[in-house]
Amino acid sequence: MHSCILILFCMVSYGRHRLHLPRLGWSGPVGKKLLLAKSRLTNFCFGEVPNMSENNARESILKSADAIADFVTAFRRDLHKHAEVAWTEFRTGSKVALDLLNLGGWEVKYGPSLYDKSLMMGMPPKEELERHAERGIAQGGDKEIIEAMRGGYTGVVATLKTGDGDGPVVGFRFDIDANDVEEAHDETHRPHREGFDSINPNADHACGHDCHTSIGLATAHVLYENRHLLPPGTVKLIFQTGEEGARGGKPMAAAGLADDCDYFMPIHMAQGDVGMNAISCSVSGQSNSIKSDVTFTGVPAHAGGSPETGKNALLAAANATINLYAISRHSKGISRVNVGVLQAGSGRNVIPSHAYMKMEVRGETKEIMEYMQKRAVEIIEGSAKMYDVNYTTVQTGESISAPSSPEMVDIIAKTAREIPEVNNVVLNRKGTGGGEDCTFFMLRVQERGGLSSIANIGTDSPAVAHNSYFDIDERSLVTGAKLVSLVALNALKRGKVR
Ligand SMILES: [Zn+2]
Ligand SMILES: [Zn+2]
Repeated sequence: MHSCILILFCMVSYGRHRLHLPRLGWSGPVGKKLLLAKSRLTNFCFGEVPNMSENNARESILKSADAIADFVTAFRRDLHKHAEVAWTEFRTGSKVALDLLNLGGWEVKYGPSLYDKSLMMGMPPKEELERHAERGIAQGGDKEIIEAMRGGYTGVVATLKTGDGDGPVVGFRFDIDANDVEEAHDETHRPHREGFDSINPNADHACGHDCHTSIGLATAHVLYENRHLLPPGTVKLIFQTGEEGARGGKPMAAAGLADDCDYFMPIHMAQGDVGMNAISCSVSGQSNSIKSDVTFTGVPAHAGGSPETGKNALLAAANATINLYAISRHSKGISRVNVGVLQAGSGRNVIPSHAYMKMEVRGETKEIMEYMQKRAVEIIEGSAKMYDVNYTTVQTGESISAPSSPEMVDIIAKTAREIPEVNNVVLNRKGTGGGEDCTFFMLRVQERGGLSSIANIGTDSPAVAHNSYFDIDERSLVTGAKLVSLVALNALKRGKVR
């Protein structure tokens, strides 16, 4: 028994200090066996611990979450510094998977099996994916895990069985991607001052997904440490690729990752109306959206010598842009349209033969979104005809709205009130026009009789989301880990619902 305790101590120290095994090739036969053996050994050595009361479980979880503050902050800063945008989160995904494997206890999955390939939208070109995979390795990502993620399969799913596993399945979703934004690199921006601003060009965690990922991982540590205090069942952590541009949610939900969940809770940081030490238990009025890339193709010609033989793609795109913003508003609710990128032309004295546009429409309801999309397509088509050029459109993303299950809202609210530092529990937060693709998971869970609602974790930020000065108060990371871990405890306790 003594030697067992000694080995256990070494194993736990090993995990804590992140002395990883990549050089042993953990995903190869030897390394993988070592990790599995470690996980089994740890379980064996702990053995059965006497049942403790409900309060003890809660108090122990709160204590574990407080104790993990340094880890969760350091992990968040590391992800922030190495921000990766949708489908290119190779380093991020590999760091998450490796940490979970080293922790033990969790079954860890990654790679193509987590996706319905036919629904993967807005993928960067193959060469770009390859370049980012190499960059992920060069920046310290795990080479073997990244090999399995090539092609953009950067998500991770971890599952922990508690007790004999005979109980509900409680799922959580954490998005892991950064924004296509260049982060501020000046002294007024704390991440720059403290040396963790993004070193990757045009990639900035300006929506807080580095926080979500770190909270997910912190939860894995907290729940593993307290696994003997948890009622029987299964906890599932889904680390989702590409939420920005609404790209990863649909293909991962369609792969059935959350279909067995009795309870399901995605999280997002929130600032402004839900500030520091506040928790919101649902979000309503999130937009339905369709994202598209549009290409106009005309004919180049000498702008001075023979302009009449050219066909001007730039003018078609410019005309379409102006008129997209002129689509009439809808009497039944909020609508939005945006052209975020417009590039055209090849030279000063050449009639521009190519134009490229990245655009999106949004609607408060599916009906309004469909109205916006129909009018947008008509305007693009009309503009192309006007200038006698061709056009193509490719859908690159989609999000839909999903209702919250009232019982899940209750569970989140009850749980939030158990967290000492939380002083404001908001039952519902009115959406501000933003969209979320976790809704694809939520709807599938609800369709199968499960309960789901999105939780917002309040924080303070000097800037709005997607702004290059976005940052958070890192104390909210611990609050987030407490919320997720305690929702797992309370949902497991509540039992199956389907
Ligand atoms: Zn976000
Ligand atoms: Zn965002």
